[in-house]
Amino acid sequence: MDRLEDLYRDLLEHLKTADLVVLTTHLSPDGDGIGSQIALAKLIDNFDVEVRIINHDPAPPELDFIDPTGRIEIYCPERHDEKILTANLVICVDNSAPQRLGEMRGPIERSAGITVTFDHHPQPDPFWRKRVVDETASCTGEMVYRLQEESGFPMCLEAARAIYVALVGDTGRFRFGNTNARALKLAVDLVEIGVQPAAVHTLLDERKSLGYLRLLGESLKELEVLCRGRLVVLNVTAEQIERTGARPGDTSEIINEALRLEGSCVAALFRQSGSAETKISLRSKRSLDVNALARRFGGGGHRNASGMVLDCGMEEARRSLLPLLEELVSESNSS
Ligand code: 5GP
Ligand code: MN
Repeated sequence: MDRLEDLYRDLLEHLKTADLVVLTTHLSPDGDGIGSQIALAKLIDNFDVEVRIINHDPAPPELDFIDPTGRIEIYCPERHDEKILTANLVICVDNSAPQRLGEMRGPIERSAGITVTFDHHPQPDPFWRKRVVDETASCTGEMVYRLQEESGFPMCLEAARAIYVALVGDTGRFRFGNTNARALKLAVDLVEIGVQPAAVHTLLDERKSLGYLRLLGESLKELEVLCRGRLVVLNVTAEQIERTGARPGDTSEIINEALRLEGSCVAALFRQSGSAETKISLRSKRSLDVNALARRFGGGGHRNASGMVLDCGMEEARRSLLPLLEELVSESNSS
């Protein structure tokens, strides 16, 4: 059974007959993870089922408006392990990599319920009993929208707004390569339900912290331009995050600025997250595949946006990766 509609129908059957469903997503959740969870929870609310959204890390503050009733709980073993172990379904949206579940990996692995990844990233991890994956979807939110259509229940405004946040997050505000007719038609559908794009963008894009802007300024000031401008590198130390008051997750957005340089095709951001831990974000343009590189180091993502965490300091991480990134940008002169 691998037709998507069949997978959706099968999942809906399991949802309808469940008593308890746990929803989770990846570490440092983003708009697609959080938006998909809220919309999926709203869909499951139609079926007299207890739904708990349990995440390892809190959502970025600018996403607070898509969870107005505070449904999202932050994982605490004492309070939540029992729920995870006894749930009929544990669904992870926007992620299949078990290493991106943090401390929740153990209880999810031991859960008596059916574990499901509901995701649009390629090559789902076999960790999950069911894998509902559509790598052609612009965002996981789009898949929740299709699941809702399959269910026959109308979508409420709160869910539509959450999906809109997922969509604009993963398409880079309709700029990235995944912005296709399907993604734009989805935006039309969501606006027809009542989503107001301008109001959403005010909440999403005009409430940045001073720390974010300061870190953005500092990191761009030190931007490294390599391979005749094709490779751009940013470096963020733990001290900079601490001093500016930015959040570690802010670097996921800061890296996108680097690719605005004319002629650039790959950007890398090295963020020190401990004396022996470095988080690396990779972004690329067109056919250049940074996912393949991230996977070699235990990370993953999409062709044009991937990430990984290495158990070493920044300098060592740079020494391991920069030559490979240089090789990648020199591989294809036309891309
Ligand atoms: P970011 O660089 O913003 O953290 O992540 C960019 C993309 O790469 C996202 O699609 C995210 O899901 C994926 N990603 C980031 N870090 C990791 C990682 O450590 N492992 C895997 N499998 N994917 C990652
Ligand atoms: Mn996503």
